[in-house]
Amino acid sequence: MAARKNTRPRAFILDALPAELQLKASPLRCVCRGCHPELSEAERAAESCTQTRWCTARTDWCRLNGYPLIDLILAELPREAPSKKRAATARTTNRKETR
Ligand SMILES: [Zn+2]
Repeated sequence: MAARKNTRPRAFILDALPAELQLKASPLRCVCRGCHPELSEAERAAESCTQTRWCTARTDWCRLNGYPLIDLILAELPREAPSKKRAATARTTNRKETR
């Protein structure tokens, strides 16, 4: 909490995050027997290893770049529907005095 002022705005975290560490590049998938009964134990272990490495890389990146990991996770949460209010406001602002 003491280092809080050194953290950067969450809005920029996804811009700064390298592509290979973005959520859409995630190798994460469930490799349990229930979801992937066809995987051999070796494949299951390899998948788990990839997941762990990717998670570790993200955690390290956050630490090195001064972002709390929680901010990255929060920034990746799906947005609520895009703000219609903002579009309406922009239109109002753009309306020039054409009378
Ligand atoms: Zn599963």
